[in-house]
Amino acid sequence: MLMSAVLPTYARADVAFVKGEGCYLHASDGRRYLDFTSGIAVASLGHCHPHVVEEVRRQAGTLMHCSNLFVIPGQERLAERLCARTFADYVFFANSGAEANECAIKMARRYQHVKGHPERFRIITFENAFHGRTLATIAATGQEKILHGFGPKVDGFDTVPVGDLAALKQAITNETAALMVEPVQAEGGVHPLPGGFLAELRRLCDQHGLLLILDEVQTGMCRTGKFLAHEWTGVTPDIATLAKALGNGLPIGACLATKAAGEPMTKGSHGSTFGGNPMAVAAGNAVLDVMLAPGFLDQVWATADKLRRRAEQLCTRNDTVFEDVRGQGLLLGLKCRKPNTEVVDAARRHGLLLVAAGDNVVRLLPPLVLDEPQIEEAMGALENVCREMAA
Ligand SMILES: *Cc1c(COP(=O)(O)O)cnc(C)c1O
Repeated sequence: MLMSAVLPTYARADVAFVKGEGCYLHASDGRRYLDFTSGIAVASLGHCHPHVVEEVRRQAGTLMHCSNLFVIPGQERLAERLCARTFADYVFFANSGAEANECAIKMARRYQHVKGHPERFRIITFENAFHGRTLATIAATGQEKILHGFGPKVDGFDTVPVGDLAALKQAITNETAALMVEPVQAEGGVHPLPGGFLAELRRLCDQHGLLLILDEVQTGMCRTGKFLAHEWTGVTPDIATLAKALGNGLPIGACLATKAAGEPMTKGSHGSTFGGNPMAVAAGNAVLDVMLAPGFLDQVWATADKLRRRAEQLCTRNDTVFEDVRGQGLLLGLKCRKPNTEVVDAARRHGLLLVAAGDNVVRLLPPLVLDEPQIEEAMGALENVCREMAA
């Protein structure tokens, strides 16, 4: 690696990509890679999707930025469309997942405050969660490796194990404002919540006057085969956050809220210079044009079915390398018997990009527009990885 002036916070692979095209990335040395990371669940429509490129290009030549001091028509439209498609009545636009979660956390505290419960400020989160890298969201994440050296931890976050209702009930006090959870813990190792758990969370929230916050930053935007992952469960949250695939590569986050949860966020209570700027919402609206078109989700289901079946065959045939397949839709994880980082490196040598997750898992996060030959290409690369690693 060359000396770099960039702060050394990332364990980067020594590859630079110079061009993206659908499910492929082209490196500076001319090599082509099949991208099963999608920029970590961002480029869900594939790289440089023609409609997104056209809309962003048009907006760049018209008006790149406009302050939230003024009405931004594309932002109004994107908010209306998100509300029409989901449980929400309000949307706040941010620039990232962590910022969308910050908004959700502030909203929960504010809601309790105006309800006459300023003492209710604590949020219960879950072990193995990931909610971002700001001071509040690392506290929400609660993992020692992410908090290390950044103390004191922001107050107001309590962590309990997933699926442990007794521990959860015990953790709810008269200071609790909300529960916050990912429908599938993605960074934590691609763990879907146990069946019925989300319904239990909803019930407890209703019983205690708490808000249910869903972090759908990774699971949202059709990744699991529904527009938002909680639609699989029939449970509706009070607040849900989006980011990653919402702009297909333009940075944008969103905090969606019901009328009751959102209304306390009155004039001056929150803001962002760039949040929902014309470029970001042009990308978001272009993404919705494609994802909300009839048949899009059917295609995702069909593709997810095929990929899962092929991944299960791969695991069965190579049980010294892979243990099982987990996840939902096109958010899949392969539990490894060899170190997951070695699997990621080997796959890259064979032309396939994967991303590691907790619990010694590698994630398969292909663009949602993946086709069958590309599934076979990925499986071929993984068979080669297994041959190499089993030897
Ligand atoms: C990626 C991610 C975040 C953080 O998003 P950033 O845009 O990196 O701030 C938060 N929550 C979940 C579930 C994520 O996957």
